[in-house]
Amino acid sequence: MAVSKGNRSSQGLEYPYDEHPVKGTTIEVADGVRWLTMPMWGSLTHINLYLLEDEDGWFVIDTGLGTNDTKKLWHTIFDNELGGKPVKGVICTHMHPDHIGQAGMITEHFRVPLYMTRGEFYQARSFATGGPSHHSSWIGQEFYTRYGMPANYLEKLAKMWSGRSTGKMSMMSMPTAFPSGFHRLEDGDVLSIGDHHWEVVVGSGHSPEHACLLCRGLKIMISGDQILPIITSNVSVHPTEPEANPLKAWMESHDKLLSTPEDTFVLPAHNLPFFGVRERLRQLINHHEERMLALEEFCVEPQTAQALLPVLFKRKLDPRQTMMALGEAIAHCHLLMYRDRIERTLHEDGAYRFTATDPVHAQEPRLDTRDDVPTLA
Ligand SMILES: [Zn+2]
Repeated sequence: MAVSKGNRSSQGLEYPYDEHPVKGTTIEVADGVRWLTMPMWGSLTHINLYLLEDEDGWFVIDTGLGTNDTKKLWHTIFDNELGGKPVKGVICTHMHPDHIGQAGMITEHFRVPLYMTRGEFYQARSFATGGPSHHSSWIGQEFYTRYGMPANYLEKLAKMWSGRSTGKMSMMSMPTAFPSGFHRLEDGDVLSIGDHHWEVVVGSGHSPEHACLLCRGLKIMISGDQILPIITSNVSVHPTEPEANPLKAWMESHDKLLSTPEDTFVLPAHNLPFFGVRERLRQLINHHEERMLALEEFCVEPQTAQALLPVLFKRKLDPRQTMMALGEAIAHCHLLMYRDRIERTLHEDGAYRFTATDPVHAQEPRLDTRDDVPTLA
């Protein structure tokens, strides 16, 4: 592993490591803190996971996808990287499948607890136990009609989703069932592991109650998907909660996280570990503010949510990317509505139209801040 201290990117962040750890191995990034990666789908290629060393064992932070490849790699780690000590607990930052996919396997193998926030645990349980999909119910149909999607999109989505439920991305394909119980983490809790104290810092917007871990002694934050250095985390409104305002929660979380000490080394779930936490948070806040301004400008004339997608995303989107992009567009609209910058009316065709409340403000000159593709993290 090549380490080059002081590697600065054009965005003002600093990446001390050039590469990820080789699969099946770990790198010590600080006293008692080890970094490893597991395979991912699509453009993400990997997820970063971490190990925290206690006197009599290890805590695993996030677990990778529920695939056999990842399971095998975990056993390589257990055999070669833990110095003969067992795992004594699994901490999952949030409930997405790349974070919880092996939580059942590891907690069963060592008969140790899962630690999560309550909101994340129960959302994971509700996905893990199945139940009717909103993509084939009137709830899903109404959602996509309201936001201006054509009828054949619903068919495509239902098809993709039924394929997905048996595919590698599904929560249902976990090799061992998701744990039936957990130890609750709450914002402000402190976990004493080895010689170090880790504060639980809860954020929201990407997922309901996402836990980051901050060690002020080591000046390290394990940030999960709450703070990523290069890609932006998906912040979406879903059919399960059509009136949600996740971008409001996301922006409030960023304001809260700006109090993280400036010299903190951030260990994210994707991309490389970095310095520059406040700079990154400011970039993300500006990114979303600029996108909201672009939407507001476009909504001088009434627009459906679907019509907003080219304002936010340049490339042609496949059905899955369209679903995520639409969820993000709606999230931006909901925060704009909360701020009284746009209003929503239901038209006879069953679709909402969004219209700027102050066309003069909305038409002030803007930069083009569109992203290439919605991110999947
Ligand atoms: Zn996530």
